[in-house]
Amino acid sequence: MNDIQMVDLKGQYRKIEGEVDKAIKEVILNSSFINGPQVKSFKEDLKNYLNCNHVITCGNGTDALQIALMALNLNPGDEIITSTFTFIATAEVISLLKLKPVFVDVDTNNFNILPAEIEKVISPKTKAIIPVHLYGQCAPMEEILSLASKYNLHVIEDTAQAIGANYTFKDGTKKKAGTIGTIGTTSFFPSKNLGCYGDGGAIFTNDDQLAEKMTMICNHGSRIKYNHEIVGVNSRLDSIQAAVLSVKLKSLDSYSEARAYSASLYSKFLENVEWIETPVIEGYSDHVFHQYTLKVLNGDRDKLKKHLSDLNIPSMIYYPKPLHKQEAFTAFKSGTFPNSDDLESKVLSLPMHTELNEESIYYITNTIKSFK
Ligand SMILES: *Cc1c(COP(=O)(O)O)cnc(C)c1O
Repeated sequence: MNDIQMVDLKGQYRKIEGEVDKAIKEVILNSSFINGPQVKSFKEDLKNYLNCNHVITCGNGTDALQIALMALNLNPGDEIITSTFTFIATAEVISLLKLKPVFVDVDTNNFNILPAEIEKVISPKTKAIIPVHLYGQCAPMEEILSLASKYNLHVIEDTAQAIGANYTFKDGTKKKAGTIGTIGTTSFFPSKNLGCYGDGGAIFTNDDQLAEKMTMICNHGSRIKYNHEIVGVNSRLDSIQAAVLSVKLKSLDSYSEARAYSASLYSKFLENVEWIETPVIEGYSDHVFHQYTLKVLNGDRDKLKKHLSDLNIPSMIYYPKPLHKQEAFTAFKSGTFPNSDDLESKVLSLPMHTELNEESIYYITNTIKSFK
């Protein structure tokens, strides 16, 4: 058994090769590289898929977060609450805009931000919460929304890892991740669940005014060419990426199912390994398994990683250093984060993609069991 990859984008491409090649060629033949008809139709496709009022495409998932924050009329020093256990992009844009990131610890079972901890750090300067739907499972949005309405805060969902996941409210209502808060953002980085063949991102909202403002911000603060009402940025999804995404969006639900099936096999094969904790699936959210992340409880996570790597099995640590420990955020590290401090030495993400087969998962889990 060799050639197990963390992510297999080539294998996925092989199955949609004809359609993707044709879509890309069409962009080239029309030379409609920027803002071509493919961008417009992808926005429409994604809007229908997510069942929301507005989709705005942009250059990447980091820009999406930045543009969302820029649209909210915030002032320097305003506080934005987010998870400490996430990718740097989530918090980087907060400090870039001279706002203050306030970090909150995560739940040890589902790796998502803890509502009870959010409430403890809310101050008169708090303006927004950015929950991250980490690894493909939604943060507890119902609790977060009720805090947001109690304290009059915006909610920006970082949906970079969870596009396609459904959130189920206590009354049975379902909504797609990214369409629950004030604004949702996502990334189409190639290895994300809906990835393009380069960089890309998008922003979702049901608010007409915010949609109009964010569309302007993406386009140099302009509605009418050479007329600039506000200061914006240049951030757009190019037509080739939009063309690829429209093809891939049709398979997103089956991609999510393939990931969830692989995850269920991993969890079944690792069921009786007492020093391993497999992912917990919360009742209120689908898990679209952007990552399949174990907790290694015996203190030997790094040795296990090496053991796997010696037998040609890749694995990754997301994330080895929570944001409150990053040098870039030295100025913002108030508070204690015992769960994240604990998780950083336990988490291990196994190969996860749409082309994984049972044989590989069997081999990977047996290799884990043979460790010690
Ligand atoms: C990937 C990712 C981003 C950033 O997306 P880019 O397209 O790489 O800018 C932001 N937040 C999270 C949680 C991510 O996983």
